[in-house]
Amino acid sequence: MATSSIHQCTCPICRSGRQHPDRVYHHHINVLMSRLSEPQRRWFAAVEALHIGQGGKQLLARITGMSPTTILRGCVEIKADLTQAPDVHLRAAGGGRPAAEDQDPGLEAALLELLESETAGDPMGRRAKASAVRCDI
Ligand SMILES: [Zn+2]
Repeated sequence: MATSSIHQCTCPICRSGRQHPDRVYHHHINVLMSRLSEPQRRWFAAVEALHIGQGGKQLLARITGMSPTTILRGCVEIKADLTQAPDVHLRAAGGGRPAAEDQDPGLEAALLELLESETAGDPMGRRAKASAVRCDI
């Protein structure tokens, strides 16, 4: 993922440009957030906000750029042990690229045929002889 997709915190410490441990912490939060799904971002922000306590939702909104309402929704979901929250799948069932053997029904047979000559245990097989000839040239 490109660096440009990582949110830049707008809190006063980060905007000041001076070195501060919170700047690194806020950056790490946003790096992690850039790799999470939308529900996971909401839940992570909610956990951090709940840990901070009063003012946590507003601070996390400033750090992450998320809406305080979204973070509040995450807090409600976390407090309910995510029982009403959607299950997060990295890939929907049946999603993704079709298997190569489904795209080319002859692929498996061709691979087996190819491996058969390599795994037969005959070092003087057709391929070995061909490469030996090439080495002699
Ligand atoms: Zn910050």
